[in-house]
Amino acid sequence: MDAAAAPEAEPPDSFTLVINKNRPLAADYVPADLTDAGGLLLRAEAAEAYARMVGDAAAEGVAVSPVSGYRSREEQSRLHASYTEKYGQEGADSLSARPGHSEHETGLAVDIGNPDGLCALETCFEGTAAGSWTAANAHRYGFLIRYPAGAEHITGYAYEPWHLRYVGPEVAGGVHDSGVTLEEFLGFPAAPNY
Ligand SMILES: [Zn+2]
Repeated sequence: MDAAAAPEAEPPDSFTLVINKNRPLAADYVPADLTDAGGLLLRAEAAEAYARMVGDAAAEGVAVSPVSGYRSREEQSRLHASYTEKYGQEGADSLSARPGHSEHETGLAVDIGNPDGLCALETCFEGTAAGSWTAANAHRYGFLIRYPAGAEHITGYAYEPWHLRYVGPEVAGGVHDSGVTLEEFLGFPAAPNY
């Protein structure tokens, strides 16, 4: 097996790994370097970048609260099942990833909020203090808004201004400056559906 030649063979611990509805995470993958990032778990490099970002935001008077970081496959499975019960399969698939397909399972994704819960996990988060600060600055710390507005046909998800994905400063800066999705930036096909 010469899997190394295929782009799909990118190791699961790569910071630029693309996970979407067409590209599941390796079934047995559990991040080896999960670190407490102030109330949630992220991989060490992402946790360090997240702490720096939150600290710099605070220094500018903007409080960024942690909402959700690493989830095990079991936790993602329970979350998706609860959405499915509430909204049906199609509704659940637009709101959350099926187990094995969530960036939260990589330890590189973090959902953020405002301390008062203003616009929590809602599109209007973009206009709040935490939302607008991170939209302008997160890329400098290696995070990107993974599901931008108007890109559901590529990413498979509606706009999620609160969902940040760590890819490292170089790729995050490139994606931010180009205004395209991670899929487009790295040359992967659109993944609107499973
Ligand atoms: Zn998220």
